Amino acid sequence: MNATTRTVEILADLIRFDTSNFGNGRATGESEAAEYVVAFLERIGLEPTIVTHTAAGEPDRPSVIARWEGTDQSLPPLLVHGHLDVVPAKAEEWSVDPFAGVISDGCVWGRGAVDMKDMDAMVLATVEDAIERGARPRRTIVLAFFADEEAGGVRGSHHVVTERPDLFDGVQQALSEVGGYSVTLSGKRAYMIQTGEKGLMWLRLTAQGRAGHGSHVNHDNAIVKLARALVSLGDVEWPVELTPTTRLLLDEVARLTGSDPAEDPHVIGDRTGFAARFVNASLQTTVNPTVLDAGYKHNVVPQSATALIDVRPLPGQNVDVLASIRELLGPDIEVSVDVDDIGFETTFDGDLVDAIAGVLARHDPGSVCLPYLLSAGTDNKALQRLGIRGFGFVPLRVPDSFDFPGMFHGVDERVPLESLEFGQKVISDLLLTY
Ligand SMILES: [Zn+2]
Repeated sequence: MNATTRTVEILADLIRFDTSNFGNGRATGESEAAEYVVAFLERIGLEPTIVTHTAAGEPDRPSVIARWEGTDQSLPPLLVHGHLDVVPAKAEEWSVDPFAGVISDGCVWGRGAVDMKDMDAMVLATVEDAIERGARPRRTIVLAFFADEEAGGVRGSHHVVTERPDLFDGVQQALSEVGGYSVTLSGKRAYMIQTGEKGLMWLRLTAQGRAGHGSHVNHDNAIVKLARALVSLGDVEWPVELTPTTRLLLDEVARLTGSDPAEDPHVIGDRTGFAARFVNASLQTTVNPTVLDAGYKHNVVPQSATALIDVRPLPGQNVDVLASIRELLGPDIEVSVDVDDIGFETTFDGDLVDAIAGVLARHDPGSVCLPYLLSAGTDNKALQRLGIRGFGFVPLRVPDSFDFPGMFHGVDERVPLESLEFGQKVISDLLLTY
């Protein structure tokens, strides 16, 4: 069976494991998905290692790591990693069952179809196909399938990096998610290669007040205090600041679209079409309230009110952004930090970038590669702790009319079959020739 057909089959299989990650140690299905990957790797002759995070009252969180030995041991190994968990999906919002692995209208549908069981499937199909053909990569490829990426990787990549750094011995560079998709700029196809990530801070704001009867005069209402704080936080216009990556990206977009590189950065960002959602968020710090929690009865003023805030600082700015948020909110709002993870950038050069450009030139002649700074986070943050330089490259040539960035964590998440076919061929070429 050819590797494209296998990619689709494996992707549908993986989607059928509901590996929803609800955060804070609440998750489902990862063990079953990891068992599938382990059995797959063992069947094709690899020897996977399972590193499991365990904690009382929580499900086991297994990550799977395996080495595919290359022919040239003098070359440093390349890490290719994906995650097996997904964000939850509300079935009633979808036009298909999000965990059925439906194939229709030229797409594979389901939670994880682009984030990121597509890459997991393309990699597994590639290794299986190569081994069946007797082909081997030049350098050793370390394969990793992590748990818990969608909750910051504490029980997945961070746990593996802490417990078993030896599994990544010699690895200097890594390939993973949220990059590699195509955009069309003035008729020219460009592939977005992720060369950095913004920081991530998940804050918890709490206002305290005077609890009491809902019919009384109350000038110390925790909900009102919290609401005021959220309005002032929401009104902040975080400044646009270009980093080396975003400066290079915008210059290239301006050049390709024949526009002025000195234009408003968001206007240039808009020229990347659907990718503008990612690009414009990489030009500044973003701060979004995402959860509110207060009260328990219509006629009771609660003593406290809480909001969760998702903060994505530009690389290197976590400390400063937190200080400005605390200053803005003042002493009445308690700010606690639930998650604090680094942002980083690498340069858009080196032998792996050259190899990616070369493979894309062979499979999509005339296309170009652009660097970009991811506005979200991936397991590359954990691997950064080992000094591993991470890139986002899930090669997918997507139709111009397809809102690919909108698929991430979106309703009716799906990936075109033609994109998977292209991607698997590119991955195969890259892994075997790099
Ligand atoms: Zn992902």
